[in-house]
Amino acid sequence: MSSNPHAAILCSPGLGHLIPVLELAKRLVTHRNFTVTIFAIPSPTSKAESELLKAATTPKFCDIVELPPPDISGCVGPDAAVVTLLAVMMREVRPAFRSAILGIKPPLRPTVLIVDLFSTESLSIGDELGIPKYVFIACNAWFLALTVYVRVLDKEVEGEYVDQTEPLRIPGCKPVRPEDVVDPMLDRTDQQYLEYVRIGSNFPKSDGILINTWEDLQHETLDAFRDERLLGGVAKVPVYPIGPLTRPVQSGGSAGPKEEGLFNWLDKQPSESVIFVSLGSGGTVSFEQMTEMAWGLELSQQRFIWVVRPPSNSPDAAFFTSGDGDNEASTYLPKGFLTRTRDVGLVVPLWVPQVDMLSHPSIGGFWSHCGWNSTIESITNGVPMIVWPLYAEQRLNATLLTEELGVAVRSKVLPLKKVVGREEIEGMVRKIMVDRDGQAIRGRVKELKLSAAKALSVAGSSYNALSQISGDNQAKC
Ligand code: UDP
Repeated sequence: MSSNPHAAILCSPGLGHLIPVLELAKRLVTHRNFTVTIFAIPSPTSKAESELLKAATTPKFCDIVELPPPDISGCVGPDAAVVTLLAVMMREVRPAFRSAILGIKPPLRPTVLIVDLFSTESLSIGDELGIPKYVFIACNAWFLALTVYVRVLDKEVEGEYVDQTEPLRIPGCKPVRPEDVVDPMLDRTDQQYLEYVRIGSNFPKSDGILINTWEDLQHETLDAFRDERLLGGVAKVPVYPIGPLTRPVQSGGSAGPKEEGLFNWLDKQPSESVIFVSLGSGGTVSFEQMTEMAWGLELSQQRFIWVVRPPSNSPDAAFFTSGDGDNEASTYLPKGFLTRTRDVGLVVPLWVPQVDMLSHPSIGGFWSHCGWNSTIESITNGVPMIVWPLYAEQRLNATLLTEELGVAVRSKVLPLKKVVGREEIEGMVRKIMVDRDGQAIRGRVKELKLSAAKALSVAGSSYNALSQISGDNQAKC
């Protein structure tokens, strides 16, 4: 029988959710001596998610309980947004999760409950079991501030947020420009907005919020959460910055023939000479935008690796699938592009091991949709970015990266507002890879890389924050 603390972590579908949860589990096991059981609902359509879960058990570092995806067809319309689908799915899975966790009998029963952003309705199961309960947010502190504060904005702001002429004020934080609001705030009549407000309102039911950022990166915002007169009074529970939690480099262990060819090619390129282009696990762009991206890359005359998936007018079209399936790039890239660029660039369908890519010395820039995992993977490898926000909270991330942290460049107009032309793209690529401005940005991101490592090291801020959680938990057990 083990007397270690035992964390149950409930995780919603989506690679961007599963990856940081697995890293949190690993850290609790290796640094804090926890036993961990992850309750996951893998998307039935995502091969990558099942592979990731399988990898977590070879060698095994935690237990995985796969909960069957609930049938939500009767609860949502055919056009429901991703946030609605996730929120409803996690609400409907609650009974199955409850039975599964109650089915683990003492003394093996979990002693702490951690739920992700979409699973806050299961916090009450922690009350039922009489154990401490936390919310884990796999995003940044500015996003958390907006999510906590939206219930106040909901009362104060009239009309649509996107129609406001002034930025939205959040106590102690950088204000949010109306065009930067998260997807669920784009339309207040949509179900995803109601779900989002509800999620933020549920946070005070927890004993604390774990967040995948670190003190030095977002000190001011994190400070606002410590101040009762600012966000502390709204959030009502402590916020623990425990990041950055990122996947480790796989060191070629799981590389297939496709990856081997890719890394062999990268090995032959000069240091920091290749821009890596990838729009996350599910990002897509329109056919017109893809054409301009291809031309922009070609005109920049820079080396590149581009992970492509078929174009779509819906930017999160591949969220639940990562674009698994057939994909013949020559059918949607400009005629002759692959031949003309074959000496300087590689086009790879759908998926590459991103952290391995970003940690390769030949990679000098990352053109990213700036999902938070991708963002911190770039920072922790000291790689400057071109930010290309598509969905969820990515517009906030893009503004944080360009205006606050100074580690990225962006297009003049948001990519989804209009098609960004090839000349502007060429300019951004050259700026990050060649120009003097790019050198300053590179210097800054390398400083942040060091600050991330310091936060995670023994007695660093994130190390200490996680110790507080485990310390609290042991005290309450
Ligand atoms: N990822 C990867 N290979 C790819 C695309 C994505 O390994 O080809 C991983 C990436 O490293 C990151 C996650 O998938 O850990 C994507 O999470 P993120 O928060 O950046 O964006 P999301 O996909 O959730 O929008």
